[in-house]
Amino acid sequence: MIKSLSSLWSGMLHFIYPSLCEGCGKTLLSQEEVLCIECVALLPLTMYHQIAENQTAQRFAGRINFENATSLAYYTKEGILQHLLQEFKYRGNKRVGSFLGKKLGIALKKEGWSSNIDMIVPVPLHLKKAKSRGYNQSEVIAQQVAEILNVSINNLNLIRIKNTGTQTSKSRVERADNMKNAFLVKESAAFAGKHILLLDDVLTTGATIEGCVAALSTVAGIKISIATIGIATN
Ligand SMILES: [Zn+2]
Repeated sequence: MIKSLSSLWSGMLHFIYPSLCEGCGKTLLSQEEVLCIECVALLPLTMYHQIAENQTAQRFAGRINFENATSLAYYTKEGILQHLLQEFKYRGNKRVGSFLGKKLGIALKKEGWSSNIDMIVPVPLHLKKAKSRGYNQSEVIAQQVAEILNVSINNLNLIRIKNTGTQTSKSRVERADNMKNAFLVKESAAFAGKHILLLDDVLTTGATIEGCVAALSTVAGIKISIATIGIATN
């Protein structure tokens, strides 16, 4: 009953305020969400979740210990994913983040990731930054992935203690240096012996994730897998 009422309501809303495709601006059909069917087909999916030795995994190989690593789609300059993530991160459009999180969750579920992940941990933002943005983008993604994989989220135990500011103008070495000791695990016991899926929006040099893994690796018996929505490629 509640479900049919809410779908009736969303049908009415759709009628009053038709949503537009974030890719091409066309009016979306009621069964379409964020992107129209043509623009969905343009998403440059990596299919990395099906390949163990993928580019995401290679970016971390020999630098940190992890089980699996994957990214949903290629993030290129002026590409559709860059546009979507800008909408999500800088224009407050959380629907776009949820949409991408769902896509990632479905891809991971198909590959059986739900059977061995114990807990999802979004890459934390510094408190100041989370306040100014109003939300942590990784958390929005994590909520969808957690729901689809049917795994709990822990967004309180890994915290960011250093506000590193924007990193875009820094080199890989500078970024990695900046991220050293930027994160902290509050209570080891909550993560001990668990297989954690660490989630972030875009993978560039990997410095942020490496910073998180440095903190997480202090926990006994922990296993870490990594997933991001985008992987930046040149
Ligand atoms: Zn479109």
